[in-house]
Amino acid sequence: MKFKDLALGPELLKAIAEQGYETPTPIQQKAIPPALEGEDVVAVAQTGTGKTAAFALPTLQWLYDNPLEPKPKRAPIRCLVLSPTRELASQIADGFRAYGKGTKLKTAVIFGGVGQNKQVQALRAGVDILVATPGRLLDLMGQGHVRFDDVEVAILDEADRMLDMGFIHDVRRVLEKLPEERQTLLFSATMPADIDKLAQRFLVEPVRVEVTPPATTVEKIAQSLFHVDKTNKRKLLQHLLEDPDATRVLVFSRTKHGANKIATALDKSGVTAAAIHGNKSQGARERALQGFKDGKLRVLVATDIAARGIDVDEVTHVIQLDLPEVPEQYVHRIGRTARAGAEGVAWAFCDPAERGLLRDIQRTIKMTIDVVEDHPFPATGEVPAEPEKRSPRPRSRNRRGGGGGRRGGGGGGRSGGGGGRGGGGRGGGGRTGGGGSGRGR
Ligand code: AMP
Repeated sequence: MKFKDLALGPELLKAIAEQGYETPTPIQQKAIPPALEGEDVVAVAQTGTGKTAAFALPTLQWLYDNPLEPKPKRAPIRCLVLSPTRELASQIADGFRAYGKGTKLKTAVIFGGVGQNKQVQALRAGVDILVATPGRLLDLMGQGHVRFDDVEVAILDEADRMLDMGFIHDVRRVLEKLPEERQTLLFSATMPADIDKLAQRFLVEPVRVEVTPPATTVEKIAQSLFHVDKTNKRKLLQHLLEDPDATRVLVFSRTKHGANKIATALDKSGVTAAAIHGNKSQGARERALQGFKDGKLRVLVATDIAARGIDVDEVTHVIQLDLPEVPEQYVHRIGRTARAGAEGVAWAFCDPAERGLLRDIQRTIKMTIDVVEDHPFPATGEVPAEPEKRSPRPRSRNRRGGGGGRRGGGGGGRSGGGGGRGGGGRGGGGRTGGGGSGRGR
């Protein structure tokens, strides 16, 4: 598949070519077509998969094809992107600017930790696309500097990281303020239950797309499993770290608190270690990461979300102290070793209460992980009874009600009569077709 097969206009195709992109990445191939059709999309994809362009390109195309008529003196915010960190927010804004070069659409970015004056000035001057971290956005909203009446597209990027960093309530508060008639795109590396709930509450019949790391990575990893009681996990970790080959070790802990406790205990026992997670300051995270890269720290203990920002080659061992709740996360975790073609070792601990999780993981990866029987802390605990099956999710409610499809008829769209690139420009049923109903839901 080529970019020109994606029904993008010449302005965007030119900008894409200037970026040197030849073919759309898998997440772009999957997410761009439904997003261009105006569908809500839930995309499960990690950083590095090309996800920014996957949401920026269809959004830019929509905004460009459907200019406001009559042209307002000052551009109102038509697309709002929420990002967990300022670094990511800046990167996203850069992406929108680069891909939207030929569209004249204006992008601004706002985040905390710096003075707000320049950001307020930018808002006053008018912006089509606003990229923001939730806290600063709420501040500026409270002061009356931001209006959401014209938002047509809302994008949540790295939703699970926003959850981990404690921003989920802020995100919800912002979403509640947006016009109901809009498109929402949610991107997340994993889908924890709270993000699933958020999607059910704020998206309408989303199309779900997903990409996983390539299987070839996984094949290079020597995986084994240790059955161990929960109380002995730390001792087993210490024991395994006696292996001199384990020179750069990434340890996964389910909780931030657990990560701290493990790092402290390791440090006390003479193994250089630090913890990295969402509660640590940016500075502390950067220091820990640098130490790990430089080899000053032998072990980095991380939560899933924090680990995502870690771009370190030559991690010799990945050790999962707890099994992940979401089976795909197992694959993401072990993929942190064996990067750049290297071979890696992945050890996972499983306590008796985690056997259900293990079963789900093995079903997902379609293999049985080799069990190491011969270790000093074999599990003695009782295997608990089968966990009860969770009751099925309630069906998502179409809050916007009003019968029928989201943008069938209904009018009230932004583009006015005959908007967009002409009816059926993208092949039937697209949001620009149908008598200029625009985004009427
Ligand atoms: P992201 O996942 O959005 O952070 O993107 C990761 C990197 O992939 C960025 O440096 C992008 O510039 C690059 N990228 C995005 N899409 C493509 C593509 N279709 N072909 C080549 N590189 C791409």
